[in-house]
Amino acid sequence: MSRSFVTQDAEQTERLAAAVGSRLLGGEVLLLCGDLGAGKTCFVRGLARGLGIAERVVKSPSYNILHQYDGGRLTLQHFDAYFVREAEEFRRDGIDEFLAQGQVVVVEWGDRFIDEFPTDAYVIRLEILGEDERRVTLTRIPEPAWLRELLDCP
Ligand code: ADP
Ligand code: MG
Repeated sequence: MSRSFVTQDAEQTERLAAAVGSRLLGGEVLLLCGDLGAGKTCFVRGLARGLGIAERVVKSPSYNILHQYDGGRLTLQHFDAYFVREAEEFRRDGIDEFLAQGQVVVVEWGDRFIDEFPTDAYVIRLEILGEDERRVTLTRIPEPAWLRELLDCP
């Protein structure tokens, strides 16, 4: 299942993301993919806004891997997988724990380690169409974890 939107500036992308954020229940994983400058961090800013978190606290986590934002309806955990070399680094950070606590996990460059995340994640692809134009495609990975496990049966 997927839906696409074309945005004409950063504010429109933020507004779309805020609409997503306002609908989250907690326990969701959102994987952001797209080139440098596509708008992944911009999308996280909107997500924060939609969750009632002060969006100015959102920064690019590149060197830290992880930032945690509180003060909203739900806690937002913001990862950046760009400088992550091995999946083990994510497991150490306890993503499962965050989800079990009903927090929201968003991962820039999440497609680099797509197999490390729950299969019922959302994938958000940002494509650069022009200087200020982006296509934002929201996809729900439809395969539940139990189905993947079933396929591993002899
Ligand atoms: P990324 O995290 O993917 O590297 P950023 O969100 O940090 O990208 O930066 C996106 C840049 O593109 C910002 O400077 C933003 O102002 C600009 N921009 C222009 N048009 C858009 C748009 N439609 N959506 C998102 N960002 C846009
Ligand atoms: Mg970024």
